[in-house]
Amino acid sequence: MSECVFCKIVEGSLPAEKVYEDGDVLAFRDLHAQAPIHLLVIPKKHISSVREIGEEEGPLLGRIFSVVNQLADELGLADKGFRIVNNCGEDGGQTVYHIHFHLLGGRALGWPPG
Ligand code: AMP
Ligand code: ZN
Repeated sequence: MSECVFCKIVEGSLPAEKVYEDGDVLAFRDLHAQAPIHLLVIPKKHISSVREIGEEEGPLLGRIFSVVNQLADELGLADKGFRIVNNCGEDGGQTVYHIHFHLLGGRALGWPPG
């Protein structure tokens, strides 16, 4: 069994509040929501971070962002806006090394991040 917490969610051995799933992409609610809507959108395939992304992952990233847009529509975020965040590496604040895109919305979000 995988040691990766998000792979465990993909495999179903760790529970999560899933909001979208297809063959390649999974979206679920963040355990520690930082906004009224805070989802994590991930590829099912284990990719540690953005550092492993090259041109060959273009179609997968396209799938992920089309899921983001579908969820933004379904959750009523599209009109007022939302934020996509990817943290990469230690200084980037990455804590789970299975690439994920935070989808945050439902309130006005501050900038810059801390
Ligand atoms: P990051 O700091 O960008 O690596 O983000 C990791 C995110 O995963 C954090 O926002 C955590 O709250 C979230 N997280 C960690 N474990 C789980 C889990 N089992 N289910 C849902 N979200 C989680
Ligand atoms: Zn993983």
